[in-house]
Amino acid sequence: MIIDMHAHLGDLRSPGLLHRQPITVESLIARMDQDGVDKAVVLPWPACPEAVVFPGLVWPESDVIAQIKAAGRRPDRLIPFGNADPRWGGNSERVDFSWLFERFIEMGCVGMGEVSANLYFDDPRVVNLFRQCGEWDFPVTIESTGPGEGHYGFIDTAGSPRLEALLKAAPETTVIGHGPGFWADIAGGLTDTDKCGYPKGPVHEEGSVPRLMRSCPNLYADISAGSGFNALTRDPDFGVRFLNEFQDRLMFGTDMCFADEEGRMPQIHFLRQLLQEGKISREAFDKMTYRNALQVMKRYRG
Ligand SMILES: [Zn+2]
Repeated sequence: MIIDMHAHLGDLRSPGLLHRQPITVESLIARMDQDGVDKAVVLPWPACPEAVVFPGLVWPESDVIAQIKAAGRRPDRLIPFGNADPRWGGNSERVDFSWLFERFIEMGCVGMGEVSANLYFDDPRVVNLFRQCGEWDFPVTIESTGPGEGHYGFIDTAGSPRLEALLKAAPETTVIGHGPGFWADIAGGLTDTDKCGYPKGPVHEEGSVPRLMRSCPNLYADISAGSGFNALTRDPDFGVRFLNEFQDRLMFGTDMCFADEEGRMPQIHFLRQLLQEGKISREAFDKMTYRNALQVMKRYRG
């Protein structure tokens, strides 16, 4: 069994990327078949206004609910998450999201994400939504950026003090780290510019990612996208040690946003190669490719 913890459906193209191909249920499953992936978690996109790009607005199944229902056509292969913006329902730190959680559960959703509002991680509106995710047994996948205004994704500074505050304010909520603003902080000594990007080279000192993984049991991460892959491969020996130490908290994912070959992600081949070379055990491989996913998706019944 292999579960891709981070997949998308629909048209995520910006007007400058019209040569790319939007993802349909059929093309997503075709790609999974090619890569030997059994199931994929569909994260509806976008729920926040900062991530809206225009072509997606006119795609037939463009909104969060339509994407959940599209994933629901293949329950044998696709696992839907819900998605919400912390500002929905009245833009207040007191919004009760229960009505929405109930609908998401009726539609078969087993988590939330990727939540990508361009707010600080410890904004009271964010804490409010995340606490309720814990109460409803919804793990939350986050998108994250660096300091200052970003295109989309939660904002933090080097060392991730705001993410740490959120993890401690919502200790019952499983938070799945993702995005450049999260993964850049695998190494310490970051500049503000590094925190928004894909820093390369050896890891001379640990950053907030390993520190928070050790101190906050509710922090998990998916290794998807260029950000996750860069973090694990920029210093190959460190990457292998990291995978082994946190094998109970890491999950395979791709985050491919288009159906065409361009930009196919190497994560599953990377993990299979490490297994073949004996750098990770079969047990560690199984945890990172499906067992951790099944553990955090408490509502998933297969
Ligand atoms: Zn994504």
